Amino acid sequence: MKIRMDPIAELDGDEMTRVIWQQIKDLLLHPYVELNTEYFDLGLPHRDETGDQVTAEAAEAIRRLKVGVKCATITPNAQRMEEYKLHSLWKSPNATIRAALDGTVFRTPILTSRIKPYVRGWTKPITIARHAYGDVYKAVEMKVPGPGTAELLFRGERGEERQEIYRFQGPGILQGLHNRDDSIESFARACFAYALGRGEDLWFSAKDTISKTYDGTFRSIFQRIYEAEYRAAFEEKGISYFYTLIDDAVARVIRSEGGFVWATKNYDGDVMSDMISTAFGSLAMMTSVLVSPEGNYEFEAAHGTVTRHYYRYLKGETTSTNPVATIFAWSGALGKRGELDGNKELRAFAAKLEKAVLDTIEAGVMTGDLASLCAGDGIQTVDTEGFLRAVRDRLEA
Ligand code: NAP
Ligand code: MG
Repeated sequence: MKIRMDPIAELDGDEMTRVIWQQIKDLLLHPYVELNTEYFDLGLPHRDETGDQVTAEAAEAIRRLKVGVKCATITPNAQRMEEYKLHSLWKSPNATIRAALDGTVFRTPILTSRIKPYVRGWTKPITIARHAYGDVYKAVEMKVPGPGTAELLFRGERGEERQEIYRFQGPGILQGLHNRDDSIESFARACFAYALGRGEDLWFSAKDTISKTYDGTFRSIFQRIYEAEYRAAFEEKGISYFYTLIDDAVARVIRSEGGFVWATKNYDGDVMSDMISTAFGSLAMMTSVLVSPEGNYEFEAAHGTVTRHYYRYLKGETTSTNPVATIFAWSGALGKRGELDGNKELRAFAAKLEKAVLDTIEAGVMTGDLASLCAGDGIQTVDTEGFLRAVRDRLEA
């Protein structure tokens, strides 16, 4: 008897990860679960055919069903426009879905004893949450010829406010940043709720000693929401929230053993998430979850569509692309569906699937990217399908 489930949104994608998507379903899911999904084809050709409407519909489905799982997708650029003969340079699906759900992205590495993090002390995962709105990513900039005076001007409905920025004697540059209280509040709630769900401490870092009003507002919004909405639940779970300066946070992260959620401002998260994922060993072992303040979840791998491998695949070569993060996207979504519905069998299957993957790697069976990171004996490098079959064997055992 296959396990039954309520529906989740399934967002298919592009290139090598699209190939792997189907293999995972065929080998690891269909045999055990009566997969119940609302399917959206976010492959670039179909996004183009629908005028990207399919992406909006998929976001709506995640909101309605509360859980989604997404394959990596191409974010078109000029070269892709040519390659796929696109009608338009469609926006990144991830950006569209993130905006529609007002969501925060949490990235967590998958740890195995075979791959040693570059930082010796890290024995537990570090989840990094990046505020994905505003600051330098929505800035306006100018070059000024000088001399002259730059001012910050706010023209409100009830009057104006202005402040001098700088009196230029010669040429220079200017940048105007903004953020919104409601966006910071959503971010804070997503972070508190996510840390609570994982049962891990939450850290938040900024630079409010220098940026007393801008970063100071981030800090005070986090503190206010924590006190009003989350302190009691955190204390009950035995976890804590703490704020610290970004430079202190960086030092503490390196000295830590991991096992916490680190919330960051937009730029800090952009930079630090690349540092953290590289330091843990492999982008192919990094999962990513988009969480909305209402508690909707979209699971995916943090890596892209692995284009270079796909071109080799198209030439008929076998590839050793690592499917682990994509499998964990599925197990994350199925596990969350099970948790929300009280579907114990589904939850148990999700946990069993993850264990089968980790046991396979612990036993030394792995794709080429991991094999190159592992020292030690008894490592057997396999192609993607070989890895999936080895996981399947463990599920059957
Ligand atoms: P990528 O797909 O993450 O791949 C970059 C390189 O990292 C690969 O060439 C490969 O290195 C290695 N790699 C990544 N994932 C791997 C895996 N699962 N197994 C083995 N090796 C892996 O990034 P990209 O090449 O910069 O981007 C390709 C496309 O993905 C772009 O069109 C981009 O828009 C899109 N993208 C989508 C998302 C998303 O949907 N979330 C995220 C990022 C990028 P080697 O070639 O050295 O083996
Ligand atoms: Mg980055």
